[in-house]
Amino acid sequence: MTERWNLQGIGMTSQRTRTRMVQRLRDQGIRNEELLEKMAALPRHIFVDDALAHRVYDDIALPIGFSQTISQPMMAAMMTERLLALPERPKKVLEIGTGSGYQTALLAQLFDQVFTIERIGSFQLRVRERFDALKLGNIQLHHGDGFLGWPEQAPFDAILVTAAPVTVPRALIEQLKPDGCLILPVGEEGKQQLLQVKNTVQGLQTEVLADVRFVPLLEGKV
Ligand code: SAH
Repeated sequence: MTERWNLQGIGMTSQRTRTRMVQRLRDQGIRNEELLEKMAALPRHIFVDDALAHRVYDDIALPIGFSQTISQPMMAAMMTERLLALPERPKKVLEIGTGSGYQTALLAQLFDQVFTIERIGSFQLRVRERFDALKLGNIQLHHGDGFLGWPEQAPFDAILVTAAPVTVPRALIEQLKPDGCLILPVGEEGKQQLLQVKNTVQGLQTEVLADVRFVPLLEGKV
């Protein structure tokens, strides 16, 4: 199964290309060296179709089928860096919107336990193959509706959402541990903001991180 991919890459998917991507992330303000190291090593090209592999290290979102996209490297970096900047490193992390599995794979290399939910069933088989090829054994996949979170596994130290609801889903707030942190894009298409919501003893603390563009978080599973 692992032979299916050239993990090291060649030409436009080579280590040199990954190093250049990481240099651009640094130039754009990403500072966490541990994160940059993981991103330099993670073969992003196995997370898209072969025909698109040569563009996957550019700072763009690319189609992954079913009208969905793999997030730009900068977005994955920005959200992950936020989790690494918390006073205590999260151990149990929930991701909503597995998609290609790239963000999931990154999380799995930085946090002990990663849970990820995807509403499109066909994505699941593909991502499992990728995680196996990378020997990532700390990821649990769930085919379901992320609006509901994952009550059986809750509470989580952190929740990261990679598609945008119009308002913050209540279930996700409820599934945060005390001091837990939720990072998500919120808003109508075309005017979304990336938010960090912290569950503190004084109540919820919300910080706006950036203006962003994500695909919408959709209800139900298919
Ligand atoms: N992190 C992914 C982003 C993929 S795009 C990557 O970089 O590849 C967002 C993903 O969220 C899509 O796969 C979409 O199907 C999924 N999604 C949208 N609404 C969802 C929901 N309610 N529950 C779970 N996944 C959802």
